[in-house]
Amino acid sequence: MKKQYDYLIIGSGLFGSVFAHEATKAGKKCLVIDKREHTGGNVYCENIEGINVHKYGAHIFHTNDKGLWDYVNQFVEFNNFTNSPMSLSKGKLYNLPFNMNTFYQLWGTITPQEAKAKIEEQIAIYGVENPKNLEEQALSLVGKDIYDNFIKEYTEKQWGRKATELPAFIIKRLPVRFTFDNNYFNDTYQGIPIGGYNKLIEGLLKGIEVITNTDYFSDRPKFDALADKIVYSGKIDEYFDYKLGVLEYRSLHFENEVLDTDNFQGNAVVNYNDASYDFTRIIEHKHFEFGKQSKTVITKEYPQEWNPSNEAFYPINDTKNQALFEEYKKLSLQEENVIFGGRLSEYKYYDMHQVIALALTRSKKELKND
Ligand code: UDP
Repeated sequence: MKKQYDYLIIGSGLFGSVFAHEATKAGKKCLVIDKREHTGGNVYCENIEGINVHKYGAHIFHTNDKGLWDYVNQFVEFNNFTNSPMSLSKGKLYNLPFNMNTFYQLWGTITPQEAKAKIEEQIAIYGVENPKNLEEQALSLVGKDIYDNFIKEYTEKQWGRKATELPAFIIKRLPVRFTFDNNYFNDTYQGIPIGGYNKLIEGLLKGIEVITNTDYFSDRPKFDALADKIVYSGKIDEYFDYKLGVLEYRSLHFENEVLDTDNFQGNAVVNYNDASYDFTRIIEHKHFEFGKQSKTVITKEYPQEWNPSNEAFYPINDTKNQALFEEYKKLSLQEENVIFGGRLSEYKYYDMHQVIALALTRSKKELKND
């Protein structure tokens, strides 16, 4: 017998919302549920003092794909915010990502040749041929001065482990540039939705039934009976009742402060490298939208050990956890009528544009097969 909905979509983050939008556009009846009190997953913004506060950490949209950029811009116009974080190290401010400005601030080098020579000299002394951990990887990529000033202590705070015990791949993507370019991302398109990310989610979910404060696991049989198929974007191990074990994450704790000043740090993101600060960065949200409010809201980001009662942010893709994930993945492939997708169900630290692209591909395939 035909059920009430074609799709029950569990989780209203970017994966669920894009899937719901595409399925609805194709004439399917969808119900979206979310256990939180709001939609949007981790891109959700909370309005404080007229400022869109990125409640679950800074989200800066970037992509090289014109089609994807046009896709998101049809729901809300994006501004031209460019991510140019600063780093405070041993009392001095530096530009990130590592570029000619940083090298000048660190060594006083004027030309790209001088900066290259300085880095090569350091790599020759400290680098190793086959880096086996994050420390060796960093020393082989950028040398000791940069590692000591910007990487070691930040990374050890972020991950709660020694850099020598962390996998090298975490910093494989560290950009190094020999131009005076402080743009963190290499992508062609970059920005923040004007009016905040909630507008993007509202646009995607327009006209679709959504119920918040509703946990699928509170009554699986009831929810399973509602729809022909399920789109699941939650934690994959939770879906299988943790029967093979628990996948580990790194978590974050955010502390917001409303300050009676119009400008606290002059930039959206300032990283705090030194171990003497417990937090890794301070976000000043108004700068994402060039805000002119008289007050400001800042967030200090404290990395935390994860446990099943706090939020899962960064998957720990080490050998042990990755192997466990692969076992869960095998199980997921046997689940008929369930589509798994997104950061938590694929145990992968996706950027926003990657999740949207994935939801578009999956929904296209699914809706064509139907
Ligand atoms: N990182 C670092 N110093 C910095 C910023 C980043 O060493 O000032 C390293 C750190 O190991 C971190 C990784 O680069 O886990 C990725 O950081 P990024 O800020 O790009 O990612 P996000 O945390 O914003 O997802």
